[in-house]
Amino acid sequence: MVVGASFAGLACALALARAGVRVSIVERKSDPGEKLHTTGILVRDLIDAVPLLQEIPPSLVRRVNAVRLYAPNLASIDLAAPGYYFLATDTPEVLRWLAGRAVQAGAELRCGTLFRGAQAVRGGYELGNRLGRTGFIVGADGPASRVAKVLGLGQNRHFLAGIEHEYLGAELAAPGYLHCFIDRRLMPGYIGWLVQGVRGVQVGLARRLRAPGAGDARTAMQGLLAKLAPIADFRGRAVDAVRAGLIPCGGLVHPVARARALLVGDAAGLVSPVTAGGIHTALLHGLAAGGAVADFLGGRSADPQREFIGTYPRFRLKRMLRFAFDHFQADWIFNLALASAPMRWAAGRIYFHQRAVVLESAAEVRRFEAR
Ligand SMILES: Cc1cc2nc3c(=O)[nH]c(=O)nc-3n(C[C@H](O)[C@H](O)[C@H](O)COP(=O)(O)OP(=O)(O)OC[C@H]3O[C@@H](n4cnc5c(N)ncnc54)[C@H](O)[C@@H]3O)c2cc1C
Repeated sequence: MVVGASFAGLACALALARAGVRVSIVERKSDPGEKLHTTGILVRDLIDAVPLLQEIPPSLVRRVNAVRLYAPNLASIDLAAPGYYFLATDTPEVLRWLAGRAVQAGAELRCGTLFRGAQAVRGGYELGNRLGRTGFIVGADGPASRVAKVLGLGQNRHFLAGIEHEYLGAELAAPGYLHCFIDRRLMPGYIGWLVQGVRGVQVGLARRLRAPGAGDARTAMQGLLAKLAPIADFRGRAVDAVRAGLIPCGGLVHPVARARALLVGDAAGLVSPVTAGGIHTALLHGLAAGGAVADFLGGRSADPQREFIGTYPRFRLKRMLRFAFDHFQADWIFNLALASAPMRWAAGRIYFHQRAVVLESAAEVRRFEAR
């Protein structure tokens, strides 16, 4: 039984079904693409690491080759890395496509079904809500995991709060960039963003949950829209969809597994505390978890709680960087030093996992966009 039909749960169920395990996915929403809480940007490393993603229909993705990073005073630099790109996605459709792949492989998808509780019994769990019995539970039910709570597993305690507006049919003047904004007053602990998506423009921000004196995320969103007006003015325009949710940023929860049960994705805290990206790890570790559970149920390996969970990232360095950003973020440093070599180096590592190239001219930008 996999709880949650999003990136982690669908990837896990797909791997289980492909390995010949009888698997059900329970999802409380009536459809995996409904009411999303993510921008849905995929990084190139993920596309390379997961061959399945190379089969996403091209109409569901849009390539973004460069990052335009703005200091609090809106001075900006353009960064790119040779061969690197991001994919903006039509996320509801990508999730429906992924669900289709899991079902095609043999998984049963039970939408509109809430996981409420489970009782340990010999050889597995008895589930409430007329769900029957299972030999293994995978909790892929997001940041505030019910599976973790019910089974006494570790729960996320540190969060960013994210909110995003989608403006269908809108077009940016500079659509080739992921535009990122630093501003401690509006987005303490993280950034704001603006991206030309597949179906329109997505504008969003994330910030430390309950940052003292910083107001709520919705008010900050109004502040961000006002700030962005010289670049793209969405004030007064009707919002087509709002995506909002919590982003765990405290690293791996503990314990993340027990006999015949494990957590994966946001439920496990598998989100980079620096970039707040979790789709990458949800998919990669979701697939791997499905393989490990299938091996265990097939008698080929020990319960994943013994060895497999040792492959989950601990984010030690990234948690230190988060601590530094939480405690020492200062707008004046970015206003003063955005274009400096150390700042460019750090931005390159964070966005591209390698040294970034600064795009100095329009011709260079066009060259990157053509790649
Ligand atoms: C505003 C915002 C923007 C983001 N943008 C990005 C981005 O661009 N790139 C990126 O990599 N990451 C991004 N993230 C993070 C990313 O969305 C998550 O890391 C990712 O969605 C985690 O996937 P998941 O499958 O673990 O969990 P989730 O996507 O949270 O899915 C959990 C699923 O479980 C279901 N569920 C929950 N409880 C139950 C229950 N009791 N019974 C049945 N079903 C249940 C939910 O309905 C949901 O479908 C963003 C997050 C936010 C909030």
